[in-house]
Amino acid sequence: MEYDVIIGMEVHIELSTEKKLFCSCKNEFTYEPNKNVCPVCLGLPGSLPVINQQAIEYFIKLAKALECKINLFSKFDRKHYFYPDMPKNYQISQYDLPLAVAGKLFLPNFNKYVHIRRIHLEEDTGKSVHIGGENLREAKYTLLNYNRAGVPLVEIVTEPVIHSVDEAVEFLQLLRLTALYLGISDVKMEEGSLRCDVNVSLKPKNSEVLGKKVEIKNINSFRFLARALNYEIERQKNLLRQGKEIIQETRGWDEKTQTTYSMRTKEEAHDYRYFPEPDLLPIILDQQYIDSVKIQTTPSEYYKKYVALGLTHEEITFLLENPNINSLFNTLISNQSDPRPTVKFLKTDFAYLFNNNQINWQKLSIKNILEYIKLVEKKAIDVVNSRKYLVEILHNHINLIEFLKANNLLIQEDSDLAEKIVEKVISDNPQAVEDYLQGKEKALGFLVGQAMKELKGKAKPNTVSELIVKKLKAQVKS
Ligand code: ADP
Ligand code: ZN
Ligand code: MG
Repeated sequence: MEYDVIIGMEVHIELSTEKKLFCSCKNEFTYEPNKNVCPVCLGLPGSLPVINQQAIEYFIKLAKALECKINLFSKFDRKHYFYPDMPKNYQISQYDLPLAVAGKLFLPNFNKYVHIRRIHLEEDTGKSVHIGGENLREAKYTLLNYNRAGVPLVEIVTEPVIHSVDEAVEFLQLLRLTALYLGISDVKMEEGSLRCDVNVSLKPKNSEVLGKKVEIKNINSFRFLARALNYEIERQKNLLRQGKEIIQETRGWDEKTQTTYSMRTKEEAHDYRYFPEPDLLPIILDQQYIDSVKIQTTPSEYYKKYVALGLTHEEITFLLENPNINSLFNTLISNQSDPRPTVKFLKTDFAYLFNNNQINWQKLSIKNILEYIKLVEKKAIDVVNSRKYLVEILHNHINLIEFLKANNLLIQEDSDLAEKIVEKVISDNPQAVEDYLQGKEKALGFLVGQAMKELKGKAKPNTVSELIVKKLKAQVKS
């Protein structure tokens, strides 16, 4: 029996607002525990929440980028459960009237949209640090850090329309880049500002009915996402092939054993007793305000633009991964730089300097970069030897041509000399000539190499190669 894989994702993104969602505590990632707390985010009796306008603005940016319908009327609800990292014993979240619904995100590699069911705004919980055990039950004691309590959190819920592990990874990558480009979050999985739960089920191929789903929690890296999904899909396949049933449950990913384990089944599922938050007014937005919130070009839009420029998926993902490099690329091509050579330069020499912290963005000379790329493309520059001067070339507003000349980095063609040396190389290497004429292409490379050695930058390899072929052809004819 063949099965279809069905995946739906629930992604949490922490917004990088200056303050928390309902109080004026600073929203920052810090190692000092309980530094940013107050009666509101500690849930002390009598304290009252006040909504943070910046969180609404950031939310709207994301909702726009994901092409959602933004609800003009929405409200907050209390979601009850008991856990020490949540001092009020309820989380202020949104239940039946979320801020935004019905969005979509395009996956270029799969040429399809992932439809988004809803996005809502809620507060984050604090963090528990278990000492002497893995969890609250096993630990000798547990430390509580409420710095994160009350940090604005966006939850994005997709429809069950993702059909493979690769699609799930691309969706999360693109969503991450979207939030990064909007400037609304630092989206670091390792720090928890991007987290995701995945729901996965299998169904017989072509069947209309979805199978029972399993939710996997605790996924905190892209690698774990792929591993957990692969493991879970295999586990479910094996059960189904043995004629067994899938139990609808929540499982955790255990990195140590590389397996998922059962956390709770439907019977133990939480009853959150949602009800409207009485301490907050509903959120009423007007369309004018929504229209006034502007968003930057999204990664998806860049992607479309780059495909049209003829860039490959690999080149595009390289550009998108770093907003600074992406922005430089756009500046360069808007100055008529040829896209392919430009991205090639950024991906090689430039990326090397960038990774070694040798780029000073303030000092970059766009003019020299443009000129340098052109010279590389024309093969007019000794790229190997110019590498050690590159930091200087890119930053200082020097005259590039003069600098290259002074350092013997410019290839200045001397066609008479090339002619002479090519003739000499042909007569000095009869065996290689013979080999080439017998069809051994490699021999040509050898001859070109010999000539280049003697020409010392006075001709380009292409010119020399063409010249040799021309001369040998003439020899055969005569
Ligand atoms: P629950 O009521 O258990 O929270 P929801 O219907 O709210 O389930 O869906 C939660 C997430 O699970 C969504 O991302 C959704 O796309 C996904 N999902 C729902 N049904 C399935 C299924 N059969 N297989 C895989 N994912 C599913
Ligand atoms: Zn506070
Ligand atoms: Mg649900």
